[in-house]
Amino acid sequence: MEGAQTLDKRGKTEQNKRKIPRDVEMDIEYLYEIVPQLSTVFRITDKIGEGTFSSVYLGEAQMASGKRERFALKHLIPTSHPVRIAAELQCLTVAGGKENVMGVTYCFRKDHHVVIVMPYVEHQPFVEIVASLSFEEVRQYIYHLLKALKHIHKFGIIHRDIKPTNFLYNRREKKYALVDFGLAQGTPDTQIELLKELMGLCKTSRSVFGERNLNNINSTKNPVDKVEGHLLKPTKTEDVVSRRFVANKRRPLPARASVSIQKPKPTAVKPSLTCSCYLSDRICNICLSRKQQVAPRAGTPGFRAPEVLTKCPDQGTAIDMWSAGVILLSLLSGRYPFFKASDDLMALTQIMTIRGSRETIQAAKKFGKAIVCSRELPPLDLRVLCETLRGIRSCGDHSFPTEFKASHHPAEITQDQTRTAEEEIAQSTSESRQENGWNNVPDHVYDLLDKLLDLNPETRITAAATLHHPLFQDIAD
Ligand code: ADP
Ligand code: MG
Ligand code: ZN
Repeated sequence: MEGAQTLDKRGKTEQNKRKIPRDVEMDIEYLYEIVPQLSTVFRITDKIGEGTFSSVYLGEAQMASGKRERFALKHLIPTSHPVRIAAELQCLTVAGGKENVMGVTYCFRKDHHVVIVMPYVEHQPFVEIVASLSFEEVRQYIYHLLKALKHIHKFGIIHRDIKPTNFLYNRREKKYALVDFGLAQGTPDTQIELLKELMGLCKTSRSVFGERNLNNINSTKNPVDKVEGHLLKPTKTEDVVSRRFVANKRRPLPARASVSIQKPKPTAVKPSLTCSCYLSDRICNICLSRKQQVAPRAGTPGFRAPEVLTKCPDQGTAIDMWSAGVILLSLLSGRYPFFKASDDLMALTQIMTIRGSRETIQAAKKFGKAIVCSRELPPLDLRVLCETLRGIRSCGDHSFPTEFKASHHPAEITQDQTRTAEEEIAQSTSESRQENGWNNVPDHVYDLLDKLLDLNPETRITAAATLHHPLFQDIAD
């Protein structure tokens, strides 16, 4: 009752200032309740992010200097594994706070609830700005992302979830911040001790389902819960934020051929043996013996590297480089999301549509995976692709897949037929955008894109090497 009264009081005062949706207000009230220490320091004013494993709030604090400062408060779901939470914090404390990597100010804990306090970086949703950036802004954006990647890779951190919602960009102040180490993993020689421990946990629990088991706190206590926790579908989607962008006018790429990954020839397991643990509450002996199938599969399908999509067990920092390549593809084409796939096979098909089916099959062979594709898809010229999607190149080339022709996107067809004043403005902005360096894009950027989207992780460019790429020749710091 008392709680309800406070809620009403707060609700009124807050609502008079700025309209906060009722459910957000209740979430804020709940956060104050479960981690009461917060209320002595922060005035929480909004919810700014919600994902599978956390909710992020905006909080204001009065500093010793008398100044009010804004912070991002990340409340991790209480079922996250303690080592997982500690590893995320350690990434922020050890590698963060410099080189465009988010740092941490403080951490609150009460029982199972952990709230990570970080400096607040105001940012605009990528989807709202991607088509209006100048070429120079794009060059700077990708440079700063690669700089952050070089920094974390130096520490042996594989981020595993590189995408625009995890790279905050303040266009006005030219600030950049890589966030969200919630899915990070360590390289074998990582300097982040807890990432090592996390790897140890993965091995001892013999997780056939990948690392997500670690998000279930019961996984170390009760082996039955561990399996059940994974078989049950998560209640929330993998990334609610990027999910919202599906409603965007830009249509995602369609799948153009059917694809399958052939099961690798069994070595430890006889081919006649079939798994019997699916939907049961235990891991069968066959699965336990299938060590090479244990491959982490974190991230968002559209940003996953081919070796992740095909569940290659050796995954390194190169997977982040691929994701950076997908971001660059979005920046150059003005399309976001570029690959919108609901599952890994669709994502793989979309990759083949751009990079070629034969090329993808060949690369997969090198990391020990066999892909079967129902038809041959030729690789596309990256410049032609991006310029066509951006609408600065008309497509006379009839070998060019129709779904990539700008005029085939319903949004644009409507725009041409009935133009409102607003659309007129949008159109003129898009015309001036073409003067924003888009008519003279250097070959260097497509060379870098090609090297990031290298299908073979062995030869894919490293973050350290990208910073010496001719595209960034004049950027020194
Ligand atoms: P999740 O694991 O739930 O994806 P993130 O750490 O990615 O959590 O945070 C979710 C969202 O919250 C981000 O996409 C961003 O919009 C916002 N956010 C996170 N950290 C900050 C920060 N330090 N400053 C501003 N916004 C942030
Ligand atoms: Mg995130
Ligand atoms: Zn099994």
